[in-house]
Amino acid sequence: MIYLNGKFMPIEEAFVPVLDRGFIFGDGVYEVIPVYSRQPFRLTAHLKRLQHSLDGIRLNNPFSNDVWKKILEQVIINNEGEDQYLYLHITRGVAKRDHAFPENVLPTIFIMSNPLLQPSQELLKSGASAITAVDNRWIRCDVKAISLLPNVLLRQLAVDVHAVETILFRNGFLTEGAASNIFIVKEEILLAPPKSNLMLPGITYDVVLELAEDNQIPYEIREITETEVSIADEILLTSSTKEIMPITLLGNKPVGDGKPGELFKRLHALYQEYKATRMRE
Ligand code: PMP
Repeated sequence: MIYLNGKFMPIEEAFVPVLDRGFIFGDGVYEVIPVYSRQPFRLTAHLKRLQHSLDGIRLNNPFSNDVWKKILEQVIINNEGEDQYLYLHITRGVAKRDHAFPENVLPTIFIMSNPLLQPSQELLKSGASAITAVDNRWIRCDVKAISLLPNVLLRQLAVDVHAVETILFRNGFLTEGAASNIFIVKEEILLAPPKSNLMLPGITYDVVLELAEDNQIPYEIREITETEVSIADEILLTSSTKEIMPITLLGNKPVGDGKPGELFKRLHALYQEYKATRMRE
C-alpha cells in the first residue's frame, strides 16, 4: 500500500494529474529512508535533510516531524517485510503550466515502501566496478531534487558498461557518485570530500565518519583530486540502500590489489553492528 495525499491505496490505483509540477517541471524533492527490522534508520537526520531540500526549493514543509513520523510508521505497518526502504516525494502540486510558483495550491505527497535488499555476498566479496565522468549537474546538489535527469544520464554510462556507479569530478575534484557518496583510502587514512553545495550530504556518509571517529580509524575530510582517486588503495561507495560497498575496479584498472580492502571490511562490519544496536538514531 502506498500513501498519496492523505490516503493509503494499492500502487495500481494511485494516479497524479498530468499538470502536477513534478511531472511538468520536476518541481519537487524526495527522501529515501531505510527501515531495518521495521524501524526507520536515522529518521531524524532524514527529516532534517528533507527540510533542507524543501527550503532549497522554497516549498513549505506540509507536516511537523511528529506527523511525518506517524505517517511513516503507518506506511511501514501497511507493508510487509522486515527491511524496507521508504521513498518519500513532495511536489509543488497541480497547477496551470507556468514557471512561476502557483498560489493556494496543495503539495502532492507520495510515499511508497519497497523491499530493502542487502548487496549480495558475491558483490561484497569481489567488489564492484565503477567508471568516472565529469560532474555536469547543477550547483545545488545538496538539494535532493526529483529532477534527476543528469544523474540518470551519468548513471546510465556505468550501466552501459556493466559497472555499478559513475564517480563524478568537478574541476578535477571528487564530488560523489551519480547516486551515492564516495570515500577513498590512502595510506590507511579514510578520505572524504567535504560537504558543500556540490554533493548530497549523505546520511550514510555521516554514519561512516561517526564510525571512523568512534573506532579510532584515522580520517580526513578534504578535497580529493581525480589523480588521488585513480591511485587510491581503496574506494568505498555509500548510500542508504547500498550501505557500504567496495569499488575494486575503476574503468579497467584494479583499485589497490583489486580486492575489497581492510578498511572496507572493518567499516562494513561496524556498520552492520551499528544497524543492529542503534536502530532509531
Ligand atoms: N549522493 C547522491 C547523488 C544520492 O542520490 C545519494 C542517495 N541515493 C547519496 C549521495 C547517498 O545518500 P544517503 O547515504 O543519504 O542515501
